[in-house]
Amino acid sequence: MKPIKVIPYGANLLRTLAEEIVRRFYIPEDPLSLARLTVIFPHRRPALFLKHYLFEILGKGFIPPKTYSIEDFVKELALRVESPPGRQLTLPDRVWLLYRCATDTGTLKANEEDFASFFPWGVRLSQLFEEFFKEMKEPLPLPHPEGVPQRARELLEDLRLLWSAYEEALSRGQMTTPGRRLREVASMIEKLPLQGEGTFIVGFYALTRAEDKILRCLWEKGAEVIWQAPRDLLPLYRRWRDSWGADLDFAGPEGVSRPKIHFIEAYDTHSQITEAVKALGENQGRGFEALVLPDPSSLIPLLYELTDREVNVTLGYPLERTALWGLLDQLIRLQEGFDPSRGYYHKDYLATIRHPFLKRLLTPSGKEGGIILHLIEERIREVGRPYFHLEEVEDLIDKGTETFLALEGVDLAEARAFLWEIHQRIIRPWRGIRTARELALTVEGILSFIFGSPLKAGHPLENEFLYTLQEELLPALKGSLFADEPVSQSLLFSLFRQIVSVTRTPFEGEPLVALQILGLLETRLLKFDRVIVIDLNEGVLPSHEEVDPLLPPSLRPSLGLPEREREEEIVRYHFERLIYSAQEAYLIWQSSTSLSTEGLEGKTSRSRFVERLLWEEELRRGKLLEDEIRKPALTIPPSHFLPKEGIPKDRKRVWTKVFSLSQGKGLSASLLNTYIRCPLKFYYKYILGLEPPVEVLEEVEGDILGQVIHRALEEYFAPFLGRVYDPSRDNDLERLFGLFLKNFNRSPLSVLGPEKRFFIEEVVRYRLERFLQEMRDPFVILALEEEISLRLDFLGTEWNFSGRVDRIDLRKDTKVIVDYKTGRPERRRSFPAMVDFIPPEDLHYEQLREINRKVPDLQLQLYVLLLTKGKSAELGRTTAVYLNLAEGNREMEFFLIKPQDLAREERRRTWIQWSREGFPKLLQYLLRHILESPLYFRATEEEYCRFCEYEPSCHYAW
Ligand code: SF4
Repeated sequence: MKPIKVIPYGANLLRTLAEEIVRRFYIPEDPLSLARLTVIFPHRRPALFLKHYLFEILGKGFIPPKTYSIEDFVKELALRVESPPGRQLTLPDRVWLLYRCATDTGTLKANEEDFASFFPWGVRLSQLFEEFFKEMKEPLPLPHPEGVPQRARELLEDLRLLWSAYEEALSRGQMTTPGRRLREVASMIEKLPLQGEGTFIVGFYALTRAEDKILRCLWEKGAEVIWQAPRDLLPLYRRWRDSWGADLDFAGPEGVSRPKIHFIEAYDTHSQITEAVKALGENQGRGFEALVLPDPSSLIPLLYELTDREVNVTLGYPLERTALWGLLDQLIRLQEGFDPSRGYYHKDYLATIRHPFLKRLLTPSGKEGGIILHLIEERIREVGRPYFHLEEVEDLIDKGTETFLALEGVDLAEARAFLWEIHQRIIRPWRGIRTARELALTVEGILSFIFGSPLKAGHPLENEFLYTLQEELLPALKGSLFADEPVSQSLLFSLFRQIVSVTRTPFEGEPLVALQILGLLETRLLKFDRVIVIDLNEGVLPSHEEVDPLLPPSLRPSLGLPEREREEEIVRYHFERLIYSAQEAYLIWQSSTSLSTEGLEGKTSRSRFVERLLWEEELRRGKLLEDEIRKPALTIPPSHFLPKEGIPKDRKRVWTKVFSLSQGKGLSASLLNTYIRCPLKFYYKYILGLEPPVEVLEEVEGDILGQVIHRALEEYFAPFLGRVYDPSRDNDLERLFGLFLKNFNRSPLSVLGPEKRFFIEEVVRYRLERFLQEMRDPFVILALEEEISLRLDFLGTEWNFSGRVDRIDLRKDTKVIVDYKTGRPERRRSFPAMVDFIPPEDLHYEQLREINRKVPDLQLQLYVLLLTKGKSAELGRTTAVYLNLAEGNREMEFFLIKPQDLAREERRRTWIQWSREGFPKLLQYLLRHILESPLYFRATEEEYCRFCEYEPSCHYAW
């Protein structure tokens, strides 16, 4: 057998192969000299590069060698093994077959579990069986598996039974799977008349048992194997060498080639992309470059930054992250919310017609359909009902809208026909769907209505997504084993979502473009002069060690399957090979903090792969490199944001407007909070004075209810103003609830139906009762609905700040400003969050985001300043509290600083100092930001857009 040839890192594996092939096999006068060769790669892409290098070397046309990915090679051999060739099942079909096996064997009780809820388990089970096929093993009995959920235990206990039933069903139906086909070919390989001579096996690292058997057989028949590896072999190569008993022939020099590595810690995704684009700019026109995205979600923002470069994209983009799926998912949601007696839920309907794909449709005479959809949106809000039948929506285009339409040059009849057609073509068809085939046909109909025939989306990326749906996913559904199985709509939709969640759109392009954007696995075997990798964070590379609910790692050895660590080892090999093969590498990760669901801030940590490269570099250079990590971080030049991140500010206008607000009612906590959370919203609301769109009653119910409760509480406590309120003596639920009812009946909520009204009354009564019970100790009521204000000298001008507090208590010796909250709880931060605040010079977006992270709500702190006028003695005995009526028990109270903390000397001193000095500095900085920063930036957090009234018309929403 021939020794395995080992090409070092740093060499161009495919170019070396091309040179060797030409040197040894090319005969100019024999056009078939190369065509007699066979090259097998782990995947398809290297074949393109090999042909490119052959052409470069030969400089003229030629008939290339036969090149295969291992998958295609196995498929071809399968034609000689399977008679007749089996039908290879898609993943959903394999899951369906397993579902049938599980019901037939009694693992799933009939009617106990439907196909859609079995689907996620079925996907795991199918993958597990694929592993068994590829490892040429059969499941061992696994009685009483520990540490797995109940459903997994049932499946594992019956694993052998299910395996036999699955094998039998596949054979009976002349069907197969990729793993089973591989096993079948491997078990017959010795009997196949294969030529080893003239065959090259190139670039493999880890082999499954079946692959090992096939490749070894070829090698024993004379094939040549080529690895790319350092002399100090990696563990899986050592194992391979030992198990084959192969000699190694190391080509090239000893030692690992060292690229120049730049370590860059960016702040967030934006700054990562900025750094990557900068690195590309520095090197433009100097050889092949790869921009590697371990997480495909950075692809779209990246492409928007690279509009002036020719790029080639090679990666699998998740279909569920596309606008195309966004529309289909929204249509499904609309259908899910359909109530036969009341119609469609208005919010789902509005979200549907706001989708950009619908807005850009044209009317028959070529007018913008978006105008008509916008009109409908306005009309639905005016009518204010939560549910509508489609016919009722069509009737909203009536005589009253004729003038508006005429101004836009649209005829009334045409507008109605346009809307009717949208309903008819994309909404009504969903009602009758009962099977996967009907679902696929409905989606096909919608796509051809929106994108024409043949489908054309206008943008090349969208065309690729359309292609995946039209040519792969929908035909697979129509041709599936369960295509005509009647299923309930909810199950069908859930199944559709699950299938989409595992679907990727494969981008694959030409290798000749100098800049390639690739996923990590797509870089296998390739060499680039310069490599830029972003998102090098733990959890992305290596990806999160996903806990397999069906088979935890501890159970794998007992089934004879390889350990999970092997997967990390494989990813590490591809990563290091890529980096060490380049001349220069930029490794970029992000350091931003993220809020966990518990409100704890967690820092994103850099990948262990980077740690290792850093450590190796440190060893080599004999010094710590932490200081050499570039940290561009917080200051992102405002020009970066100009076109996309906000609206340029007219400083004179904003100054005039804010000053006049200050002279009028005064600057409120709500104005400041709005700015911190979203300067654009501040602009719409306070500078332009734009009213948000009128919402239907159901949407504003919470706001009105809050006002009603506030009024009831004010009236309830009014008799005690200036006196002691002793809860044990004075609590009177009936009086309080009576005041609530009185105010409720005078409010717009009085028109609510009896059912809804009953529900609201019950809840409010319960909450008010809890509220009274929570008050234990007597207190003096100093003020109710009190206006407070203070003039502060900032930036050479006097500014008036003001607020209206719900109640001021005197509890023992402490003054407590009470603010009732009835809606969503505020984000709570006690006072020390920014106690060391030093106003920065810059007025950019990132500084505002930092303030938002630490003090997203200034209200209580501002009230304390206004009430105490910043006097130390008063500050030392004043605090403020939110009383959240929507929450129960002690959770109702949230203190800015607790009264008992005010009694602690050191704590009190810090509090006074912060309130007198730190907080006014923060206010002044904010005012500067409002008046002088270059842009009205967009929301400082994605979350804010979700609850923003301006979101429907805001172009900057996250
Ligand atoms: S949608 Fe988002 S970005 Fe736009 S105004 Fe609202 S919060 Fe700001």
